[in-house]
Amino acid sequence: GANLTLPGPADDILARREIPIGLYRTEFLYLSHGSFPNEEEQFQYYSKIAEKFAPSEVVIRTFDLGYDKRVENDCWEQENNPALGWRGIRPMLEMTKVFKTQIRAILRASTHGNLKIMLPMITDLSEWERARRLISQAKFSLRKDNVEFDKEIKTGIMIEVPSAAMSADVFASRVDFMSIGTNDLTQYTLATDRQNARVAKLYNPLHPAVLRLVRMTVDACKKNQIPVSVCGELAGDLLAIPLFIGMGVDLLSMTPSRIVDVCRLIKRIDSQLVRHLVSTVTAAPSAKAVTEYLKDFRVALEKKNR
Ligand code: PEP
Ligand code: MG
Repeated sequence: GANLTLPGPADDILARREIPIGLYRTEFLYLSHGSFPNEEEQFQYYSKIAEKFAPSEVVIRTFDLGYDKRVENDCWEQENNPALGWRGIRPMLEMTKVFKTQIRAILRASTHGNLKIMLPMITDLSEWERARRLISQAKFSLRKDNVEFDKEIKTGIMIEVPSAAMSADVFASRVDFMSIGTNDLTQYTLATDRQNARVAKLYNPLHPAVLRLVRMTVDACKKNQIPVSVCGELAGDLLAIPLFIGMGVDLLSMTPSRIVDVCRLIKRIDSQLVRHLVSTVTAAPSAKAVTEYLKDFRVALEKKNR
């Protein structure tokens, strides 16, 4: 799958090849406008996306603003610790009009293709429940206005913080799908700002603690028979791919430029062998040990396929 931010030149190729869009970052619509577009503007935007990629699915992530994604002159106050502040689903649960407008626009566009709704930065069940309530209200208002929408539209959450990963079993019986955002999951698990060059050496998504949380999430989804994907940068990392396959991840969604290399590798992987790799790697004592195991696996794979 592909991660997209705004419509671009690669869209036609992705659509022709029926590549699903595992993450559409809608906050860029806001960032490029400098304000929230109204319902009609958003409806037009999401409809075009849905039509372009149909019949493939497009996972529309609701506005994930705050921290690195905010405009200077907006309602975001200066925060001492924005990564732990008003970001992701949090502002949307307070700016309910903005949230419901976006949901109404996505729902209206859902008749134009195969859309799913995804909520970012969920940390607690109460956030999911409040968001669900607002989504139900948006559906109710559309019914009242006699406006068509996909009644079966799936709604899922991103797993980006340890509390969500560790509660994946609780969420799995309630949500329609999960997508693991390894960029933020790494940041929060390792207490390392993903944007701070000074601590970049500590920011390692192959840290066994991060991988254990990924595994915990995938296991909970498998147990509850709901789809699970990975949409952080790690989804396009050739070293990590065998691990995700071994865990049973259903979809890897990545920057479009990574897709060809990843597909080439996936075709060569033996699914029996990778299952064993998962237990070895998640029991590893350090990120260094994980990297060595994964590199050895790559070398063995190359030899086998030669
Ligand atoms: C993530 O956190 O891994 C993710 C995909 O979301 P973003 O990079 O947009 O924060
Ligand atoms: Mg994120």
